[in-house]
Formats: sequence, structure tokens, C-alpha cells
Amino acid sequence: MTGFAAPSRFDAPTVIRTKRDGHRLTDVQIDWVIDAYTRGGVGDEQMAALLMAIFLRGMDGAEITRWTAAMVDSGRRFDFTDLGLPLVDKHSTGGVGDKITIPLIPVVLACGAAVPQAAGRGLGHTGGTLDKLESITGFTPELSEARIREQLCEVGAAIFAAGDLAPADRKIYALRDVTGTTESLPLIASSVMSKKLAEGAGALVLDVKAGRGAFLATEAESRELAAVMVALGNAYGVPTRALLTDMNRPLGCTVGNSVEVAESLDVLAGGGPADVVELTLALAAEMLDAAGLDAVDPACTLRDGTAMDRFRRLIAAQGGDLTRPLPIGACTETVTASTAGVMGDIDAMAVAMAAWRLGAGRAAPGHPVQFGAGVRIHRRPGEPVAAGDTVFTLYTDTAERLPGALAELDGAWAVGPAAPELGPLVIDRIG
Ligand code: URA
Repeated sequence: MTGFAAPSRFDAPTVIRTKRDGHRLTDVQIDWVIDAYTRGGVGDEQMAALLMAIFLRGMDGAEITRWTAAMVDSGRRFDFTDLGLPLVDKHSTGGVGDKITIPLIPVVLACGAAVPQAAGRGLGHTGGTLDKLESITGFTPELSEARIREQLCEVGAAIFAAGDLAPADRKIYALRDVTGTTESLPLIASSVMSKKLAEGAGALVLDVKAGRGAFLATEAESRELAAVMVALGNAYGVPTRALLTDMNRPLGCTVGNSVEVAESLDVLAGGGPADVVELTLALAAEMLDAAGLDAVDPACTLRDGTAMDRFRRLIAAQGGDLTRPLPIGACTETVTASTAGVMGDIDAMAVAMAAWRLGAGRAAPGHPVQFGAGVRIHRRPGEPVAAGDTVFTLYTDTAERLPGALAELDGAWAVGPAAPELGPLVIDRIG
């Protein structure tokens, strides 16, 4: 024996050329390339080229289904049905200021649901639930399957890094983040659904974003993404539905990591921005319906403190200490209004890029994020503004990041004579 593996009948350059030249990938090509990449037999540079080819050429429905199945099969699949709990989860396709998971999980727990949630880190311009929650001192998302089971029984939920679930997605997700290949319908659909199908939820609610701050450019593409993911979930036997929601302007008044946790605590205390509360309750209603639980009004759990109690128990179970102050960037800058009037629309993508430049997101795989970096929005669209009012505050630990972030906000907002016309937050329901 020489130690050399027998040559495979597949090779990465041929798979890349197939897609580069606009052809379909066969099932066996997909199975091979996902498996070989997960094991290290296909290099990052080869997968990056293939991802770009997929980005440019797309995939048909059968290719997306097979690519997703290969990603699910790259790791383990949890099964918690023996616990006899109403297991349901939610996933967002990535938004700006999208902290909804943080208040949402405790709300549905307080209504009797159980949530096994494989959550992600920031991707592209969008934030990740894990980066946000890790700004709480001591919080860990690294949970074994045994610990997830225990938590589901003891506190009703676990928010965990995907770990052994869909490991192909972990590698591809990090690569997409730094190769300009995030904004692709087949890659988003397979990334979201591979994790969600592997995590063991009995039903799934998707929050599919549409608008300037969403990954996909048009509402039509976001609708198609929702339909593809709903079909994937149902085909796998996980009843799935989606809300199509507006992502033209940031959700709430904060974009970043710890600033979004602080805002979520406001919501759990019965306050917080109206749009964050509205979307939390809309998604909660869908999750409870999907789990067959409709006796409790989710809004009550915010008013009577039961959702806050559930949040404290969940964070404590994962080592988090909510008595410690949340970090906040030591270097700040403000943006003020020069004229009086009404705040117009605020461009979600520009605010996301400002937060990213401040250090809230990553520029290279595995880089740490700054937990205290972010943007606070003091005047929301439609609110009155006086000349000299602070409109935004920027936070970072690195003063040199401030000018680039300020530049992102140039032209991203305006004060005018009348309130802007804002469409509905929940645009449609699919599935
Ligand atoms: N969330 C994911 O898990 N993957 C994506 O590609 C986008 C959002």
C-alpha cells in the first residue's frame, strides 16, 4: 500500500466547469463535492469558485433539493420526538437590526412551545444571533446533544452553534461570507434549510426578508426563496411556513450586537420599538399555530413578565450572567440633524454597512466581532426631528473605524416636511 487514495471518478475542476458553463450539476456530482469539501478533499479555493459559479448561474429546484440533502447528510440529524414536546423553531434569512429571535423564543416558551434552535453567526452585512448573545458575559452556544436534550426538558429551549449539524454549511457559510457569494437564492435556501432540517424541530416558521437590507434584490426573488424553502421543509416532513417581511429599513432602534440584546430586553420588559414587538408577536402566533398551541395570547407574556422569566432561565442555563453590564464600544460619534422636520426613510443596507465597519461583523472567517460595536437610531422614520437633534450614535472599540462608518450613513437618511409612506411590516404569508 502506498498510502495514496484511489483516484476518484470526480474532480473539482470538472464540477466547477459544469456549473461555470451553465449546466446542471448531477446528483452524484453534488453528493461528491459536498462530501469531499466537508472532509477537506476539495479546497476552499475550489469551493469558492464553485460557489461563484452557482451565484452567477443559479440552480434548478432539483439541484437545490439535492444540494440541501447533501448538506444535511454531511453531519448528524437530531431527533427529539421521544421527549413528547411541541417542538417548533424559526429562522430568518438575515436582516438588519433583526434581533427578533431573542425576544421571540422566550415568548413562545411562555406559551408552552419548546425550541431547539441551531443559530448562526453574522453573514455578510447581516448580524447573527450567536454573535449577539455572546455579548452576554458567560453565554455559551457550544452545547452537546445531551445538554440540548436536558435544556429542552428543563427550560424548554436551547440556542446552539450548529456544531455537528450540517458541517458542510458551517464551512460554506464562512466561505460565502468572504467571497461575495452570500446573495444567492440556492445558497441561502440550502444553508438555512440544511441546519433547520438537521436540528430536530417538529415545525418551522421562516422569516424571509424583502427590501434594501435583504440578501436578495427584489421582492419577487424573496417570494421565490420563501416558496423554495417551504417546499424543502415540507418535502422533508417538517411542516414549514414563511412570513415575507419588510427589510427596507432597520428593525428597531439598534443595529449591532450588545445594543440589540439591550433592545430585546426592553421588549421583554413590555416596552421596546413597535416594529420589533409587532414582528415578534406575528412570528410567535405562527410558531404557536404550527405547534398546535393557541390557548395563550403571546402579547400577555410580554406584559406579565413571563417571557422575561423564561429568557433569564434560558440565558442562565447557557452560562450567561445578565447581572453583568453589556459591553458598549468606548469610542462614539454622533450624527445630528441640521434641519427640523420629519425623519424620512432610513436605508437598512447603509446602516448595516456602518455597523459592520464599526466592528459588529467580520471581514475574514473566524475573526472576532466587537460585541460593543453598533449603531443606535434615535429618530425612526416618521418621527419629528428638531434641528440639532442627535439622529444616530455610533459605537466601536476602534476610533479609526468611525470615519468609514460615518461615510456609510451619508445619504442614507433625510429629514423632510412629511412622514414617508411605509408599507406593512408583514407583507405576506407563504405556505
Ligand atoms: N441564514 C443562514 O443560515 N444562511 C444564509 O445563507 C442566510 C441566512
